[in-house]
Amino acid sequence: MEKNNYQIIGDYLLDLQRVDSLEKMDDFVKILTDALDQIYPSISCKTGCFTCCTGASMPTVYAKEWQRIRDFIQNMPEDLRNRIKNKAIKMNNEHEKTLQFVHEIIHQKVTMEQLTDFAQQMSENLKCESCPLHIDNKCSVYEVRPTKCRIFGYFGFIFDSKVQILTCVSDNIKIRAYLDSNKTNQIVLPYWNYFERKLIKFVLDDTEKYSMSIIPLWLKEDIETGKI
Ligand code: SF4
Ligand code: SF4
Repeated sequence: MEKNNYQIIGDYLLDLQRVDSLEKMDDFVKILTDALDQIYPSISCKTGCFTCCTGASMPTVYAKEWQRIRDFIQNMPEDLRNRIKNKAIKMNNEHEKTLQFVHEIIHQKVTMEQLTDFAQQMSENLKCESCPLHIDNKCSVYEVRPTKCRIFGYFGFIFDSKVQILTCVSDNIKIRAYLDSNKTNQIVLPYWNYFERKLIKFVLDDTEKYSMSIIPLWLKEDIETGKI
């Protein structure tokens, strides 16, 4: 009997228990997102598509994920490294309070009321910004990008007991149109929450200032301490 999408994706997810390093997570996410591309042809994420690297939505990056990115930046040509540093310094200077607020959101130090009050302002403040690692319309650390960047566009996320699709507005519209054309309102996607729970078993490192943060703040810390 032919497997349904729930069974196909469930079979892939069984292998998540064998993932115990960032490199294995990279490989696993690649296999899974390739499979999701086959199941849902409406997903249009591809290299060079970067709206999700802009604006207020910034990936959470864990300590060991950042160490890998830091090593990569340290080995970049000086000119490229300086462009990243300059972009990070400018962003931090212009949006210090907003970036700190985003950091506090991911550490769950913000109440729902504060989030509701400041969300609009936060989006407005960062709407013309992009990730400091986004240079010449591409990700300058693509090979070692964080897991959250690898899964974006393909996963669901449970927040406040509601399921959202982690994707950009335009792909969200395409997915909904695809579901309508297939006369269903059901889409089977892996949940980022479960992956994150797995990830934190091997990506924390208490020798770093942060257990997790956003890219502009990781860069600020490394620039100030001369690590990059
Ligand atoms: S989520 Fe949207 S912007 Fe990001 S890669 Fe996918 S299609 Fe492109
Ligand atoms: S690390 Fe790369 S993929 Fe992730 S947000 Fe920054 S530029 Fe985009």
